[in-house]
Amino acid sequence: MALEYDVVVLGGGTGGYVAAIRASQLGLKVAVVEKEKMGGTCLHKGCIPSKSLLRSAEVFKQTKEAEQYGVLTENTSLDFTKVQQRKSSIVDQLHKGVEGLMKKGKIDVFEGFGRILGPSIFSPTAGTISVERNDGEENTIIIPKNVLIATGSKPKSLPGLELDGEMVLSSDHALNLDELPKSVVIVGGGVIGIEWASMLNDFGVEVTVLEYMERILPTEDKDISKEVKRLLKKKGIKIVTGAKVLPDTLEKSEQVTIQAEHKGEQKSFVAEKMLVSVGRAPNVDNIGLENTDIIVEKGSINTNKYYQTKESHIYAIGDVIGGMQLAHVASHEGIVAVEHMANEDPLPINYEHISTCIYSNPEVASVGLTEDQAKEQGYDVKVGKFPFQAIGKALVYGEKDGFVKIIADKESEDLLGVHMVGPHVTDMISEAGLAQVLDATPWEVAHTVHPHPTLSEVMGEAALAVEGKQIHG
Ligand code: NAD
Repeated sequence: MALEYDVVVLGGGTGGYVAAIRASQLGLKVAVVEKEKMGGTCLHKGCIPSKSLLRSAEVFKQTKEAEQYGVLTENTSLDFTKVQQRKSSIVDQLHKGVEGLMKKGKIDVFEGFGRILGPSIFSPTAGTISVERNDGEENTIIIPKNVLIATGSKPKSLPGLELDGEMVLSSDHALNLDELPKSVVIVGGGVIGIEWASMLNDFGVEVTVLEYMERILPTEDKDISKEVKRLLKKKGIKIVTGAKVLPDTLEKSEQVTIQAEHKGEQKSFVAEKMLVSVGRAPNVDNIGLENTDIIVEKGSINTNKYYQTKESHIYAIGDVIGGMQLAHVASHEGIVAVEHMANEDPLPINYEHISTCIYSNPEVASVGLTEDQAKEQGYDVKVGKFPFQAIGKALVYGEKDGFVKIIADKESEDLLGVHMVGPHVTDMISEAGLAQVLDATPWEVAHTVHPHPTLSEVMGEAALAVEGKQIHG
């Protein structure tokens, strides 16, 4: 017998489950189809487990350096099994929480692989969902009024550099290592590459990063990339930018060897493991898109600003539509999509107001335009920059590297972008995000009294610095 719902969400990741909760709050009858575990990549293979490992790495490093705080420790060592157990228990706890939220919202969860069917005896339009059940029972057929595709993405590799899970790893594999390797070569110095480089280095692993572009974190403001590179090199990470990796040269024996062209020379890089972090590919395969009129362009699903595909009752959000592949973007897109299904007239997302965060040590966070982007868009910019070095709380923390950079429009005084590198900046960027949403000027940010002593004072000082009026620098 076919089941009927107002909306079926394909994929129970951060985008999908948040959308399901909002849909249920709006009084819709909701089902989620999930092939693995509710919580998806972010909870099981991404944000949460990687941040747990990053935190263990940070504590390990700080403990080894505790003497500078007047704390004497002896023979600090790492129990990586416990590090992994801690990670798993955090993930388990949050997983139970998501399952509880599904029950609370009376959202039915179907465990299996969902596929969109074309027009059939069940419905004259495409969108019926057939669930290939994980328990091997006969497929469940669901007839929804609306479908929300939230199937996420998977790690990409390079042709010839196949991920084997043993020596050539994706971040999925790396998260489940039983023990730390002595050395790692990381291909790709983007967000994942830099978070892993920082974490593994803090755990004591020898790290080399090979980045194709002329700078690491190429989507960040140039000054931020430069500072992160400087600080990571200071920690002992080897970073090679402008490196053209030659996948055909891959050799695997006791160690893994890869060659890369760099400054006209071919160089060899050897390590115990290789981590490939060259981006993530949207999960568009086998979900039945060929049974619909949905357009897939450059590997991701095309939608309008309410996330409707060419089939107006089938929506798509999150990594599967490309763009900013971030959990908080996916969940907000999901909310807009289901509110649109429920005729709630949601406000479309302004992607220039989305903050991005990188949880390396040092952390990076930014919102809005980089200086180059602002100039390319024709703005006459003024820039304020202020270092953590001059912030009392940063010295107290023992983390004085980094700065905040604010970019404003000379003509309108509008805040165009805020870029941060340094301690706890991922927890501080939302002030800049709110300032952007409220269309604040640096003057208004500077006139928000920032309590002393706090790290947030750096934001007030950087805003003053836009007019050259900073107090402590
Ligand atoms: P990315 O796009 O951030 O970085 C990929 C990097 O690999 C780029 O710098 C690119 O120039 C480089 N590259 C590509 N081909 C290469 C080659 N042949 N040789 C050397 N370098 C090469 O992708 P990612 O780091 O894999 O992350 C995937 C997605 O996941 C991103 O959208 C990212 O934002 C998201 N993510 C976000 C967070 C976070 O928000 N903290 C954490 C992890 C992942």
